[in-house]
Amino acid sequence: MYDRQNIFAKILRNEIPCDKVHEDEHSLFFKDINPQAKIHVLGIPKEPCVDFADFINNYSGDKVSNFFKSVELVISNLKIKDEGYRLITNSGVNGGQEVPHFHIHILAGEKIGRLR
Ligand code: 5GP
Repeated sequence: MYDRQNIFAKILRNEIPCDKVHEDEHSLFFKDINPQAKIHVLGIPKEPCVDFADFINNYSGDKVSNFFKSVELVISNLKIKDEGYRLITNSGVNGGQEVPHFHIHILAGEKIGRLR
């Protein structure tokens, strides 16, 4: 069940500010408030979806495709393709998801260490 009071829902409704990197009709990208790398951008679809599975299973192929194409566009605009980057999406308790609105982390700008 989607919580309309989660922090990213409030950012989407402009109730809370964000440092915007890119916005289009179906997605929003902004800097993480607590960056874990020199470049740390979060990308979210504008649809009310809790996590990856919710987004993939309950929204149209067009919406899913548009979102991931925007992720690629932002990667392109950030000029991090050649040096490399890491995409992460956390889900549920074991995944360590804190904000229950599906999001992709884009980490770059330095060598991202191994998880373990
Ligand atoms: P998760 O752990 O859910 O995958 O990641 C949530 C991310 O959202 C964290 O990296 C955290 O720093 C970021 N975050 C939490 N609250 C805010 C906020 O109000 N603004 C921004 N820009 N990022 C936030």
